[in-house]
Amino acid sequence: MPRPQRLDAPLETLDGVGPTMARRLRRIGLERVGDLLWQRPRRYEEPVPAKRVSELFGEDEAVIEVEVRRTRSRRRGRLRILTATVADETGSIDATWFNQPWLESRLTPGARVRLRGRPNRYGFAVGSYDLEGEAETADFAPVYPAGEDVAQKRLRELRAQALALVRDAGEPLPATLLSSERLPLRADALAAIHRPHALAEAETGRRRLAFDELLTLQLALARTAAARAQASAQPLPEPGELIERYRASLPFTLTPHQERAIAEIDGDLARSTPMQRLLQGDVGSGKTVVALYALLRAVEAGRQGALMAPTETLAEQHFLTLDELCAPLGVRVSLLTSSIRAKEHAAARQLIASGDAHVVVGTHALIQEEVDFHDLAVAVVDEQHRFGVAQRSALVEGRSPHVLHLTATPIPRTLALTVFGDLDVSELALPPADRKPIVTAWVTEERSSEAYTRLKRHLDDGRQAYVVCPLIEESPTKVARAAEAEAERLRTGELRGYRVGCLHGRLRPADRRAVMAQFKARELDVLVATTVIEVGVDVPNATIMIVQEADRFGLAQLHQLRGRVGRGAEQSYCLLVSRPREEITEVASERLEAMVATTDGFELAERDLEIRGEGQLLGARQSGLSDLRFVRLRRDRDLLERVREIARGLEEEGLLADAVDRVLGEAEHLGES
Ligand code: ADP
Ligand code: MG
Repeated sequence: MPRPQRLDAPLETLDGVGPTMARRLRRIGLERVGDLLWQRPRRYEEPVPAKRVSELFGEDEAVIEVEVRRTRSRRRGRLRILTATVADETGSIDATWFNQPWLESRLTPGARVRLRGRPNRYGFAVGSYDLEGEAETADFAPVYPAGEDVAQKRLRELRAQALALVRDAGEPLPATLLSSERLPLRADALAAIHRPHALAEAETGRRRLAFDELLTLQLALARTAAARAQASAQPLPEPGELIERYRASLPFTLTPHQERAIAEIDGDLARSTPMQRLLQGDVGSGKTVVALYALLRAVEAGRQGALMAPTETLAEQHFLTLDELCAPLGVRVSLLTSSIRAKEHAAARQLIASGDAHVVVGTHALIQEEVDFHDLAVAVVDEQHRFGVAQRSALVEGRSPHVLHLTATPIPRTLALTVFGDLDVSELALPPADRKPIVTAWVTEERSSEAYTRLKRHLDDGRQAYVVCPLIEESPTKVARAAEAEAERLRTGELRGYRVGCLHGRLRPADRRAVMAQFKARELDVLVATTVIEVGVDVPNATIMIVQEADRFGLAQLHQLRGRVGRGAEQSYCLLVSRPREEITEVASERLEAMVATTDGFELAERDLEIRGEGQLLGARQSGLSDLRFVRLRRDRDLLERVREIARGLEEEGLLADAVDRVLGEAEHLGES
């Protein structure tokens, strides 16, 4: 195969990867050979002393070199425990592994093994092990995010095969830049992060890769900003009578943060360059009322507003919320999604074209598919945590409405300014004052009946509840069926006698809307749902949530889910149900612990960064851009500054277009992976 293509090839081209393994690897985000190289290790093993068995003490981590005497395995529930009695010349000890039954056949009596782990009261809990000259127990051995289906061991074997091809990684940066910035070659950087001899070496490699990512991002931003500078928009007149009625209709007073965001938006709308503002605020911080304010400013000027959501469900939810607030004001809201019937669709388009629809709610496709607005003045783009630079440029290049982007991704303001350099930023840093922090508990499956007892107490007090179904990574149809089955099970089991509805992505839009409307109107006590409720559902009377198999969800996702409760003045609860700690992955228990420890989105974001790297948080898979996998936003502030200077320099020298082609061209290709 020609060299650059070897890293692009599917993982099946590696030794020992068949279709089943390939499927498992895809599930943890690995598709091509190169993906193995672009995965950042979670951490590196600390250097620890090699000890003899008789020297093991307390719970200090250590490495022992021993011989296997005998093994035995047993089951405890779903847990499979393998114990090996191992010994050196000073003594013997029982070493234990969880859920690695295949290992038994390799730990034959007489085999020499190197074990890294901690002594405990049962013997020695093995963290990593080496048979036959492997290197996992070595000091600074990288530890990768583990999937449940693929053992670390396998991943390391595969990565070793990929590392043999590291010279194919190419070098997008010119030699002059490499030497002026004292950066290692990309191939060397990749080798260093996967096989460092010291932490400093891994860090130098990481910074080089972070540099590439930041440069890519800055170039993309520069390109967008250049396009934006050329666009023009019509300024809107001062706020008037409709806005006054809107403010009066709200059942609460706006927080100072909301007022400040509104003032900033007013400033933007008065100008003849299109607004490009990011409204950032954690779940429940009250972004919707601010967004509607911006839309109503357009309506008041006799023009139109549009709200675009990332998914159909979310668009429907926004529609319900906005329609309720707008109807009393005499403002007409239309819903436009691709799944409404052709006749309705045509009718909606007609209303939009004639200007009879004042506010239009739909999916992002709404704008991209050239819907013909009568006079669109303000667009609100709800991106939640899926934030994409590419999408922004698409908007700028077409019509030039004023645009407000909403995001629930908590990034400190100063960093947001650099990362989203082409946007102005407003932040809702504090939720409305009458909120009590949600109480979160981690409950094991055996005790889930107590969780339901707790939930029923809320229902008996006239409150409502959510039950979130396990995340199944198969087809949406299977997910939907599982949700239906779960709702049915609860109706006849734990929640007998209560009104239980079910919400999932496979319902027809009208049915989905009906279920949501019923829940809002308190005609349902409990909503059993898939992650479709992750964003946007807003029912302040819902005060308790049970998340089943919570260990399967990501931290950002759990935080979003939890944000569905705690929306009113009542104390709210979130109960995370999972298998016991020993049976779930290390990362999964770290996530659940983090959820219990704090409700602060910023803190959780930081934890998420530590647990799995920044890129994902910023809304990984931005179309056309590779993830920020290696950037550590806090640690790399100086690097970020430096990269901005470089990008600015390129622009001044007229070299921007060239650099964009070179670096972004490559990123676009990587981003596909
Ligand atoms: P977000 O979209 O940021 O997650 P929402 O806009 O959905 O949050 O607001 C969450 C809840 O808080 C809603 O029920 C909303 O009506 C309510 N809310 C918004 N602003 C205020 C405020 N200033 N005072 C009290 N409640 C508010
Ligand atoms: Mg919202």
